[in-house]
Amino acid sequence: MSIISKDISKAVKLLNNEEIVAIPTETVYGLAGNIYSEKAVKAIFETKQRPFFNPLIVHIPNIEYLETLVEDIPEKAKLLAEAFWPGPITLVLKKKSIIPYLITGGKDTVAVRIPNHPMTLELLATLDFPLAAPSANPFNRISPTTAEHVEGYFKNEIKMVLDGGPCQKGIESTIIGFENGEPIVYRLGSTSIEDLEAVVGNVIIKNKKEAAPEAPGMLERHYAPKTKTVLTSHLTKTLKDYKGLRIGLLTYNDILNNDAIDFKIILSESKNLEEAASKLYDALHQLDQQNLDIIIAEQLPDYGLGKSINDRLLRATKS
Ligand code: AMP
Ligand code: MG
Repeated sequence: MSIISKDISKAVKLLNNEEIVAIPTETVYGLAGNIYSEKAVKAIFETKQRPFFNPLIVHIPNIEYLETLVEDIPEKAKLLAEAFWPGPITLVLKKKSIIPYLITGGKDTVAVRIPNHPMTLELLATLDFPLAAPSANPFNRISPTTAEHVEGYFKNEIKMVLDGGPCQKGIESTIIGFENGEPIVYRLGSTSIEDLEAVVGNVIIKNKKEAAPEAPGMLERHYAPKTKTVLTSHLTKTLKDYKGLRIGLLTYNDILNNDAIDFKIILSESKNLEEAASKLYDALHQLDQQNLDIIIAEQLPDYGLGKSINDRLLRATKS
């Protein structure tokens, strides 16, 4: 029997019972549990096979709730929360003692956001506790943007995926911490740097592992298909390099037909970066199922959401 269901009350029952449930958000599907239940939180880590040092994002129903979980909120954090919540930014703030260290990988900070999906907002408003929810994929694999992706990964491990349809944004939230009150981007994501800067002025990006020990879990290899994947900005040359192999192509808007390509996905014929982001992971899931020898991914323009997509593609290609 399928684990996919639209029944919010069933999700409430399972979560109240310290079980974990996959939930829809506007970014990707999450694997959710009560932040105060050690049983549920451990089940999240075990199901994902995620190392304990890699902290979880806490999902809350409204801005007022923030004060119960964190303290010393910088002015610019408040501005960002007001501008973008509910929505795809995650704020890393100083935790109050109520937040278990199991959630934060032992750190004194906690990552928090309000997701923008009507079913999950209803779920959060009904529950008496926030939800810890990392992306609902096994560690290092491609993030899920449909209930079917989650079912493909975890049909034997979890009892339910709350089906909220395909995720509208399609890549993870932008994660922002603060140093001396100034915003630092630890992970590029569904909110572009340009949009952040329109609200708080210049932001610094520290999304490389070496530069950001504050953001554990920013692994070089992540979001990866099983099929070998390469990223290129010289498509014609790269196609020649892999001549004779079964090639899959992931392209922004390329319409060129080339006999060397066995399977092709175009992310946005109209060159719309939002559309490209929303299709990215489903495209990688599809390409990974074609028994290809190689996936060639074309680099996108390096601005707006293109920057976030290129970040994911780069991490998908690291071995
Ligand atoms: P995921 O839940 O799979 O989207 O990944 C969550 C990511 O949030 C982690 O890999 C960390 O990079 C980041 N994160 C969560 N909590 C913290 C924290 N307290 N400090 C810095 N980064 C965090
Ligand atoms: Mg993830």
